[in-house]
Amino acid sequence: MPIEKVKLDVTNLDNFVFDMSRCIKCKGCTWVDHTYMPGINYSTRCPSATKYIFDSYGAYGKMRIGLGIAEGRLEHTDSYLELLYACTLCGACDVGCKRNLDLEIELTLEALRVRAVKEGKGPMPAHKKIAENIAAKHNYLGSPHENRQKWLLAGVKPAAKADVLYFVGCSASYTNPEIAQATTKILNAAGTPFMLMPDEWCCGNILYSVGMIDEARELAKRNIEEVRKSGAKTLLTACAEGYRMWKVDYPKMLDIATADLGFRVVHLVEYVDELVKQGSLKLKNPIDLRLTYHDSCSLSRLSDPWVPWEGERGLWGMVSPKLERRRGANGVYQPPRDILSAIPGVELVEMIRKRENAFCCGAGRGTKEAFPEFAQWAAEQRLAEVREIGAEALVSTCPWCKNNFAKVAGKDGDNLKVYDIAELILASVGT
Ligand code: SF4
Ligand code: SF4
Repeated sequence: MPIEKVKLDVTNLDNFVFDMSRCIKCKGCTWVDHTYMPGINYSTRCPSATKYIFDSYGAYGKMRIGLGIAEGRLEHTDSYLELLYACTLCGACDVGCKRNLDLEIELTLEALRVRAVKEGKGPMPAHKKIAENIAAKHNYLGSPHENRQKWLLAGVKPAAKADVLYFVGCSASYTNPEIAQATTKILNAAGTPFMLMPDEWCCGNILYSVGMIDEARELAKRNIEEVRKSGAKTLLTACAEGYRMWKVDYPKMLDIATADLGFRVVHLVEYVDELVKQGSLKLKNPIDLRLTYHDSCSLSRLSDPWVPWEGERGLWGMVSPKLERRRGANGVYQPPRDILSAIPGVELVEMIRKRENAFCCGAGRGTKEAFPEFAQWAAEQRLAEVREIGAEALVSTCPWCKNNFAKVAGKDGDNLKVYDIAELILASVGT
């Protein structure tokens, strides 16, 4: 194999021709690792391939079709766009594949979407509406921009200057004020001064996720500049999707490392876990619940820090300089579990598919908007797993997960509760 130049840059699909061409159709991207597999139930990790069954919907199918696109043998047909976007970009295939082959599957899927948009074929119509909302109102919902801080309770006073900047995000600002309110009350209880952006805009998660990288990059530049101007040392969010965007996709789009952002990006659970372990926040009120924790993809396997890489690939695909693969191992797995376990009365029980093997809720990365039935189906699959282990409640760290699960929970007449972890932390801290 001749030596070729390669860069982890999703704006050029040629960077991922090797990855697409070396997919051996082993389906490690579809099945949960065999050592964790309890039997035929809950044994798959890919929502898309599990729901739609045809191989074209699995990562292996997208790799083969994507190779045809990259080599000019295939075109962006409607059926191709359908299978490209009926995928939650959850990263389960990526960690599965890297157990075997170290192929860059998640980045390839992102690059295929960027290419679809560049060709004028993507994204899906529902995504274009979201892009219009963001351009006009600075939020993906199309809600009035002037209502963005309506969630802010009268008794909670953000500081004019503080080390911590709380980035609320569109969901907690408009559809999930309970998460924003709980987050700020927790910060108050911990005695942590925090500021808000004077004029917060959407993080651009959906834009990047559907391949609209130019629009997403402009938002990234604007938002990063706002944080740098504020002098904040820590950007805190209680939204897993926003967390991944700030920590991974902003640096990726700007070709810098996460460490070069100039501020630390933390999710509420990382912050609270530190406070609880230092003794500065007490989880004292009991919550008598047998509950289980759902790993949001964007807080877990998709949240390894970003480090730009450019180099050469030669014989047997060996690369130089050394490339530290992002295998999802540095995601945020333990802090939420430690917090929940520290709440008196809570019995934390684990689902069969957990941590890197967790099954996506189905909502994120533009899926819920373009394929609502698929999103609902994925949530139903996950809730069946919750019931299987006899949990009374499901807890997550993302408004996208909470809303998607809450839509489905209780439908069958059972009493399964769905919470965001901020609500339980607040209930235990008390105010
Ligand atoms: S695990 Fe990797 S090599 Fe195997 S089928 Fe999936 S994408 Fe292809
Ligand atoms: S990103 Fe998730 S839904 Fe898409 S192919 Fe990979 S495992 Fe399947």
